[in-house]
Amino acid sequence: MRIEMTRRLLAEGILPSPAPTEDVGALQKRLEALKLDFAAEGLSDLLTTSVKESWNASQFLDALLRLELERQEERRIQQALKISHLPTGQAISNFDFAFQPSISRSKIETLATCQWIAENQSLLLQGPPGVGKTHLAVSLGVRAIESGFSVCFCLIDELLHQLKKDAEISPTRLKHKKYMASSLLIVDEMGYQSFSRDEANLFFRVVNYRYQRGSICLTTNKSITEWPEMLAGDEVLAGALLDRLLHSAHVLNIQGRSYRLRELKEHLTSRKERGDTPATSS
Ligand code: ADP
Ligand code: MG
Repeated sequence: MRIEMTRRLLAEGILPSPAPTEDVGALQKRLEALKLDFAAEGLSDLLTTSVKESWNASQFLDALLRLELERQEERRIQQALKISHLPTGQAISNFDFAFQPSISRSKIETLATCQWIAENQSLLLQGPPGVGKTHLAVSLGVRAIESGFSVCFCLIDELLHQLKKDAEISPTRLKHKKYMASSLLIVDEMGYQSFSRDEANLFFRVVNYRYQRGSICLTTNKSITEWPEMLAGDEVLAGALLDRLLHSAHVLNIQGRSYRLRELKEHLTSRKERGDTPATSS
């Protein structure tokens, strides 16, 4: 307990060995002293409900503890989502599996249990633009946080930028970096740009360090055969990297139409049906 809190409790007669009290204010202070702030806040309402519903002591205590636990959990998830840099608004529940038949719903549901993260496995989401790679990676990242894992999301450009900045730091400091220490590292948009030799080496260092220590999820438009070319033409390095990455990996090859283009097509069709004409021709 913090020393200021102790002094306050002593001054207010709540410590050291007070008589049992019915004073709600004093009860709230005890809860706050134990850092049960949500329980303190909800105490008064729960006491009212408990009288109304004729709860016994166990039922009341259970309701109070559950309130605290649920709120603490909500706060943890909010903070972890913020730290992870995961984009918002993408969830498995709003993924249209009917639109993308090459993705098995049951495979995604199995991945959503996060067992693969508990086992430090990797996930490779491969396919052309717009097929939902980022959407699925983000959704699984959110699930990971909800299941109690730490997540670090970044675009490959951002990761390489950070890796160059951290190139000279000591191994001890390096292993505390979020991209090394998180349970799940999601790297989005690999393959749009080739790596320089330095970048390929720096990226290899991450994959190598995380091998069997943490999970990696990569999204890419490149097939595995194109990786040597993407990694500065270094076949040896690409082989070593893929060896670690694919040692125990789930590979989802998404072949299908772009959802982005579908949205565009629908937008254009509805404009045509409404008889809208392009601004330039009016
Ligand atoms: P990729 O990363 O493969 O280029 P995205 O995941 O960024 O594609 O998808 C592009 C947009 O389309 C995003 O807004 C995403 O939420 C949406 N999207 C893609 N596939 C689906 C789908 N099957 N169901 C619902 N939304 C989808
Ligand atoms: Mg993407």
